[in-house]
Amino acid sequence: MQIAQDTVVSIDYTLTNDAGEVLDTSKGDEPLTYIHGKGQIIPGLEAALAGRSPGDAVNVRIPPDEAYGEHDPDLVHEAQRSQFGGDEPEVGMQVQADGPDGRETLTIVAVEGDVVTLDGNHPLAGIPLTFDVTVVEVRLATKQELAHGHVHGSGGHDH
Ligand code: ZN
Repeated sequence: MQIAQDTVVSIDYTLTNDAGEVLDTSKGDEPLTYIHGKGQIIPGLEAALAGRSPGDAVNVRIPPDEAYGEHDPDLVHEAQRSQFGGDEPEVGMQVQADGPDGRETLTIVAVEGDVVTLDGNHPLAGIPLTFDVTVVEVRLATKQELAHGHVHGSGGHDH
């Protein structure tokens, strides 16, 4: 069966940046499962997987505008160390904050003296992403999965 709208797809994947560093991988874990055509994965990867079948290997480099977007400098803020209370701010730490669009996740990208720099962009924004994917399984989504908007069973919701 080929990957098409409303199929449940399982993939093994490794994600690298242009320097070849592994940013994420399903190796050693369950395959990633998603419902195709619902925007559950980044647009560039969804497009690259359309029409593929189990066993197919796909290697694709996806620019930021088809992945997590360009890096928006307006989402970078500075804060004072004292605002973190008892928690020692460290680079890489993620914090929740109330922003104009509700709760947002910010990543600490620098700590210099008392100044802490926070970035509200997705950690992968602005980065071209190379996905090395093997299609594991493709099946039709059930009516219930389509109604719920997520995959049931192996690799999905169990309820
Ligand atoms: Zn469900």
